[in-house]
Amino acid sequence: EPQAEPRRIAVLGATGSIGCSTLDLIERNPALFQVEALTANRSVAALAEQARRVRPRFVALGDAAGYRELKAALEGSGIEVAAGPEAVVEAAERPSDFVMSGIVGAAGLPPTLAAVRRGATVGLANKETLVCAGELMTAEVSRCGATMLPVDSEHNAIFQVLDTSEPASVDKLILTASGGPFRTWRLDEMRAVTPAQAVAHPNWSMGAKISVDSATMMNKGLELIEAHHLFGFDESRIDILVHPQSVIHSLVAYVDGSVLAQLGCPDMRTPIAYALAWPKRMSAPVEKLDLAKIVMLSFEAPDPVRFPALRLARAALRQGGSAPAVLNAANEIAVAAFLAGRIGFLDIAETVERALERCAPSAIEGLQALFAIDREARACAEEIVADLAGRA
Ligand code: NAD
Ligand code: MG
Repeated sequence: EPQAEPRRIAVLGATGSIGCSTLDLIERNPALFQVEALTANRSVAALAEQARRVRPRFVALGDAAGYRELKAALEGSGIEVAAGPEAVVEAAERPSDFVMSGIVGAAGLPPTLAAVRRGATVGLANKETLVCAGELMTAEVSRCGATMLPVDSEHNAIFQVLDTSEPASVDKLILTASGGPFRTWRLDEMRAVTPAQAVAHPNWSMGAKISVDSATMMNKGLELIEAHHLFGFDESRIDILVHPQSVIHSLVAYVDGSVLAQLGCPDMRTPIAYALAWPKRMSAPVEKLDLAKIVMLSFEAPDPVRFPALRLARAALRQGGSAPAVLNAANEIAVAAFLAGRIGFLDIAETVERALERCAPSAIEGLQALFAIDREARACAEEIVADLAGRA
């Protein structure tokens, strides 16, 4: 039967990889969706072009420097334009049924929290938000009656195959990882990796930050913490399995020995479509999975020596309190420094490890305390980066 009213959607981080895939699905299904708000950080031209196509009521730019240019570009369109971090939060606060949280980094926390606080359905791609504020976010989700649907492909896979009706029936969650572009490289080869090599992911086309995270496997470390908060499993009950073809997006092992998995071609439009249409399904323009053509799926254990980020993330999750927020903040600073050519590839995990050693662990007492921890960890990581950059 046809849907009575189109779902009203806000897309945060509309100009990014997740945002563009989301808009692609929306634009292919104009009867199902209506765009209420779009946001970006600095990509004025891309945001204006998207706005002219999908006609939202409201567009917001995170970086206020682009305000005049965006305003001019949308002159006469009737679309309301605002800029600054508060404007991005407003985009999440304005009425919509579904908010795609597609901003990269902890910058996505305030608008994601705003969407949760008005009880919206949130499609969560922005994993950093759960890594640095997992307890706070999940508490607010239940307090405010919001719905959080995982968009990250591994978590979306688990969401699809996890039977929550009988928690004792589940043994483990198994997150798959592609292993990134340096899966088979020797440590001495990894030392000289360039930003261009690190952002060239073998299976997925993604933004620069998450591509570097995949290359260091910090992405899987962040996802481990994300899975803990989304599904309530201890660190010891979440395994990581390297699976280079990225066809099995994750698995759930049950106590009777059954293992259930979700499979598909590596295209984020599948998990995004699942979130957009939930609890129904919608068709997505993705390549059909042809296992006979793929022939072989392979698996291996992650290498803890070449990919220390996994150990750091596990330790931070076990430690709890401020540790995951410090891990995330230091990683954001280190990845930016690596992309800017300031530090080497192996220095990314080194920066995170030193920041975790230097920042005294504390409990997180509310949002303001969390922001302070995030700021301090970034300052600390900047010092470590300067130190590592000077050493070269
Ligand atoms: P991206 O770099 O392609 O896009 C990021 C978007 O966020 C852009 O629209 C940018 O303008 C906006 N943005 C950046 N900084 C901002 C700020 N300070 N304030 C407001 N807006 C800001 O990133 P992406 O690859 O689309 O990833 C987005 C999020 O989704 C990340 O958390 C990532 O880990 C997660 N994710 C991405 C993929 C993927 O396939 N790309 C898969 C799983 C999870
Ligand atoms: Mg993922």
